[in-house]
Formats: sequence, C-alpha cells, structure tokens
Amino acid sequence: MNQVVQYSIVVPVYNEEAVIHETYRRLTEVMRSTGESYELLFVNDGSRDRTADIIKEFSEKDPAVILVDFSRNFGHQIAITAGMDHSKGRAVVVIDADLQDPPELILEMIGKWKQGYDVVYAKRTKRKGETFFKKYTAKLFYRFLHSMTDIDIPLDTGDFRLLDRKVCDQMNNLQEKNRFVRGLVSWVGFKQIAVEYERDERLAGESKYPLKKMLKLSMDGITSFSYKPLKLASFAGAGLSVIGFFYLFIVLYLKLFTHTTITGWSSLIVIQLLFNGFILFILGITGEYIGRIYDESKHRPLYIVQEIYQKKPEKKMIYR
Ligand code: UDP
Ligand code: MG
Repeated sequence: MNQVVQYSIVVPVYNEEAVIHETYRRLTEVMRSTGESYELLFVNDGSRDRTADIIKEFSEKDPAVILVDFSRNFGHQIAITAGMDHSKGRAVVVIDADLQDPPELILEMIGKWKQGYDVVYAKRTKRKGETFFKKYTAKLFYRFLHSMTDIDIPLDTGDFRLLDRKVCDQMNNLQEKNRFVRGLVSWVGFKQIAVEYERDERLAGESKYPLKKMLKLSMDGITSFSYKPLKLASFAGAGLSVIGFFYLFIVLYLKLFTHTTITGWSSLIVIQLLFNGFILFILGITGEYIGRIYDESKHRPLYIVQEIYQKKPEKKMIYR
C-alpha cells in the first residue's frame, strides 16, 4: 500500500557527482524545515560517473531518498517525466541538480500552494554565470515560442516548479514522446502563479545541455505547440508566385519595348541556390514534424527503469 507523502522533490541527474552532495544537503535542510513528510526522488539519467552510487549511499542512511535508475540516458525532459510518474506526494516539485535553482525557493512555492494555487512556477529575472550566447538565445527562444503558439507558455521559465497532485496526474496521462514539459504544464491549465528568482551559477561541473540538446529542446517546444512553421511553405510560396508574376511583366516589357534582354548566368545561379535552399529548408521543417509523428507511431515506452532503489525505513515512519 502506498503511504501518503506530503511533498515529492524530483531531481533529474546526469553526471552530477560534483554537486550531488551539496544538493542533497541543501534540499534536506529545506525540506526538514517544513516539518512535513517528503521524498527526494532522484532520477539517474544514465550517468557514467558515480552519481548513482552516491545517491544509493544517501538512501542507505535516509529513507526519504529514492533512486530511479534509467537503463541509459533518455534526456532531461524524460527524466523529469519519470520522476513525476514515480512521485507520491500531494505536491510535486521539479528542480535541477546543479543548484542553479535555489532549494530555499521551494518554501515560497509551498506557501503559494497552501494558498490554493495548483502550479507555482519559478520565473527567472536574472541568469548569473551563463554565457552571453545561452542567455540571449534562451531569451529569444521564449519570445519566439510565445509568438508561435496559442497556449500561454510563460516567458523565461524553466522546469523548476511545484505541481499539485491533480496536475501531476494529468501530466502523467499525456503520452507524447518528444516532451516539452514546461509547455505541457501550461497546456493542462489549472490555477497557476509565478514566483520570481535570480538564477545562480551552476555550483560545480559543466552544463549537461550542449548546443545539440538545446536545439532538440527548442524544436520539441515549437513542434509540440505550433503548426505555424508548416504554413511557412504556403505563405512563402504564394508570396514568391506573386513576385514571379510581376517579374514576368517586367521581362516582357523590356523585351518588347526596349530591345534589352536580361542576361546573366550569375543572377540565375544566385536565384537557383536561394530557392533550392529555401525549398530544402521547408522540407526539413516538414521532416521534423514527420519524424515526430513516426516517434509517436512506434509506441515505445518513454523510458526504461533498470532499478528503483529505496531503503525501507526500519522503524515505522509517521506520515502526516
Ligand atoms: N540532465 C539530465 N539529462 C540530460 C541532461 C541534463 O537529467 O541528458 C539534468 C542535469 O543533471 C540537471 C538538469 O538536467 O539536473 C539541467 O541540466 P544542466 O544544469 O546541465 O542544464 P543548464 O542549466 O546548463 O541548461
Ligand atoms: Mg543548470
């Protein structure tokens, strides 16, 4: 029988041995200060370092710690999803392992939840210690996404948030494969509110989000929540036909009335390259959507868990 826990803290971890001790210490301090029951759910996303062993060591001493160990690296968004699937708390908090999201903010989130909000998301007012490139591409991306979709996905908001059990259950019912969790939370709705914070630097180690993963995440965000890129071909096609049509008249006019013909291999080749490039670009966009349809049609599970590790409490725990 499942015991009731008040809070579940979901922490996706990928090669985080450099920070995990401090993360565990600070999360534990914050959660103990609530005086209520909690579980710390670490989802190990196929780490190649000692992360999983270290978490097992925590759980030997602390029954609040649970390790969900993936069979390989499935990605940050899938790790969050698995954490939410395995959570039992009445409220579920998702937080990064690198302490860029301050655990102390959880107390403020809990306060809002107790006032009756179902989703409390953390909005970054500043991002410290990140590259100029990352900050500005992220800023641009959130604004671009906002203009592309009809769903109100809040700007400058990552996955650091608190969800009420009912929201979490609804999210767990969504089976789509290329998940953009922060968009799905907006999609399910309920009573949502922001708390603002300044994002700290990563405590130690390197970012686990190289450009390739960032691009994949942004493509997932856009394709999951907008068809607009697909319409680009129709709009551009219509626009270019109109331009071509007018150009035809210009060429005819020059030919018939001025005895000049427009010559030039260079201009032709430039137009060729430009338009072929454009057509391939549109094909690529279409391919992104088709690839995602293909992913859905395979019906593979979202992730594979090789082990769930939790030390059973020796004495009977008192859960409120
Ligand atoms: N992460 C993960 N799987 C991955 C990449 C990252 O579980 O494939 C975790 C990582 O351990 C961290 C969180 O996702 O807890 C965010 O990653 P990171 O801090 O490296 O991203 P950044 O803050 O640089 O965007
Ligand atoms: Mg980080």
